[in-house]
Amino acid sequence: MPQAMENKPSPNAFPDHVAAVIVAAGRGERAGAAGGPKQYRQIAGKAIIAQTLDAFLDHPRIGTIIVAIHRDDDALFAEAVGDRISRVQVVHGGATRQESTRIALAALEDTVPDAVLIHDGVRPFVDAGLIDRTIDALTPDSGALPALPLVDTIKRRGEDNLVSETVSREWLFSAQTPQGFPYLAILAAHQAAEKSGRSDFTDDASIAEWAALPVALIEGSPDNVKLTWPKDIEMAEQKLTGATFPDVRTGNGYDVHAFEPGDHVTLCGVKIPHSMRLNGHSDADVGLHALTDALLATCGAGDIGTHFPPTDPRWRGAASKTFVEYAAKIVRDRGGRIANADVTLICEAPKIGPHRAAMTDALTAMLGVSADRVSIKATTNERLGFIGREEGIAAIATATVVYPGRLPDA
Ligand code: MG
Repeated sequence: MPQAMENKPSPNAFPDHVAAVIVAAGRGERAGAAGGPKQYRQIAGKAIIAQTLDAFLDHPRIGTIIVAIHRDDDALFAEAVGDRISRVQVVHGGATRQESTRIALAALEDTVPDAVLIHDGVRPFVDAGLIDRTIDALTPDSGALPALPLVDTIKRRGEDNLVSETVSREWLFSAQTPQGFPYLAILAAHQAAEKSGRSDFTDDASIAEWAALPVALIEGSPDNVKLTWPKDIEMAEQKLTGATFPDVRTGNGYDVHAFEPGDHVTLCGVKIPHSMRLNGHSDADVGLHALTDALLATCGAGDIGTHFPPTDPRWRGAASKTFVEYAAKIVRDRGGRIANADVTLICEAPKIGPHRAAMTDALTAMLGVSADRVSIKATTNERLGFIGREEGIAAIATATVVYPGRLPDA
């Protein structure tokens, strides 16, 4: 009967008001204290806790959000979350995760949401689908726990570090968060656990279990990892910065210097006897000038003239190695790593071949990269034009540099 169907409550009638508790009061010893508590570390330019909060702030079914932080971390938290602070309620946690969660749950006593999702602050990869699945699985009398089946074969260790048993993993799952519960039931469970002196629960589903509140397993997300070790944070960084799309940049440079009477030229840092010399303010090393421009171009840092104006007497007769090393330092200061450098010298004479190895050595020393990342090539201009008439030498250079951070979105 259609009317009877209409009277049937929709499966989503409960819960109507869902709050979230984000537990971020830990000191993060396992990830190494040097960088501070790990929830405040940056990954891809955004604090982990901010990343986590955004998943809940952006979710249309989440109302009040309580964040439990350590009492010493007010400033760290404010700095990490920026404007988000006005959209969450902050409480100071306790000595254990369990205590921090209980304090946060108690802060909802005036609101009394139907349900609450309790989430680790250091699981920034929780997504809207997982939050939805958790909420959808809640009932007025039972909680929901995202979990993943174990993939590794499970061993029990016996004495002397020997395997005593292979444990069937058929019924075993690893628990994630957010863990969802009817609010009043999980609050009561937490308060009862405290009253009975239990402070050793490592997640809220364990407290629900202890309090005989049923908890349903739902499908977790393999991406929803808890950032526990320094390696986890490194991997998260790679994931968010899009290691599959590294920020690779290419720069090119071009330079020409004219011949004048002389007895040697300097090309790619190597002095070569010749019947002419190149005219220029510095040592007129066209190859290194082109390379300097190529390096600067990879980070939009202007050109050689910007940094070493020919009007500046300091650079009279200067070894152009100085310019390349300066450009390489600018690149490194911006976090860039030089992947390769390629220089082509265009001249009828002198012959470059006999000096190629020395030039390669010079460039590897200037750039601090291995010889296989340096290329020196030479070509004549088939006697055409000013190069063909031996009026000067030209050089073109290409540099490839990989920078940290994120490529612009497509
Ligand atoms: Mg020049």
